[in-house]
Amino acid sequence: MNDNLFNVEGKCVAITGGAGILGQSMCKALAARGAKVAVLDLDMARAEQLCKEIGNDGGFAVAIEVNVLDKESVEAAFNRVTESLDRVDVLINGAGGNKKEATCVPPATFFDLPADAMKWVFELNCIGTMLPCQVFGKAMAEAGEGIIINISSMCAFHPLTRVVGYSAAKAAISNFTEWLATYMALNHSKSIRVNAIAPGFFLTDQNRFLLTDEKTGDLTDRGQQIIDGTPMGRFGAPDELIGTLIWLISDASKFVTGVVVPVDGGFNVYTI
Ligand code: NAD
Repeated sequence: MNDNLFNVEGKCVAITGGAGILGQSMCKALAARGAKVAVLDLDMARAEQLCKEIGNDGGFAVAIEVNVLDKESVEAAFNRVTESLDRVDVLINGAGGNKKEATCVPPATFFDLPADAMKWVFELNCIGTMLPCQVFGKAMAEAGEGIIINISSMCAFHPLTRVVGYSAAKAAISNFTEWLATYMALNHSKSIRVNAIAPGFFLTDQNRFLLTDEKTGDLTDRGQQIIDGTPMGRFGAPDELIGTLIWLISDASKFVTGVVVPVDGGFNVYTI
């Protein structure tokens, strides 16, 4: 019997967007379980503060600046990660997000959506995932092993009304996850796995303006609609992604590649 099925101790993990709300929760949880974590982010102040907190709790984390939209910056970050951690076992692509201008919130209509805002959302989510997969994935291909976790979303399965650009971009992430899983296994190594987590609704900076009133903090009609559409009747808490993450980066999921796992309180399967 393998008692260490979910063990992540000693794993070297690089996480882009590691200083974000979901990323911070992942970094802390992994470090607390003995993984060595490289927090890759544009926001160095938050990344360094996070690493300090992890260090104070006895974990190992190092903050490294990266712009996931710039391949040279990703390559430089990769070199710094390998200097600090020796190697990379796991890449988590956590940098991503949405912006108000790429949503169809009345009075805005689809016909007037600015292309720049749509490009921003496509680039951050798609290119910002693909470039780290190229750079870190190449090293994994050379090493013959590795694990990549992408972050998709509920709106990748069925687009959310109003959420035009982000739904399409996250659908691309799910599709890319399936493609890369196949590509790596067929062309490089049967020990490289690529999977994605699709979080449901977690109240964070990217959706706060859609789900709660900016002034009062009360649920908007839309926020209430989402709660009503979630069989479990609430938003998720960031630490509720951790079980799925540990499963996907440990031997517990050794024969799992190319899947997108919803963590959503049942939102994806609920109709009426
Ligand atoms: P967040 O905005 O709190 O964190 C994103 C982090 O990415 C930030 O620390 C930011 O500095 C960093 N970042 C942004 N652009 C970057 C760049 N060019 N290079 C490097 N770092 C950059 O977001 P979050 O809510 O923690 O979301 C994390 C991931 O989960 C995103 O992909 C998001 O789309 C996805 N997601 C979130 C939810 C949710 O409910 N919050 C739901 C589904 C999916």
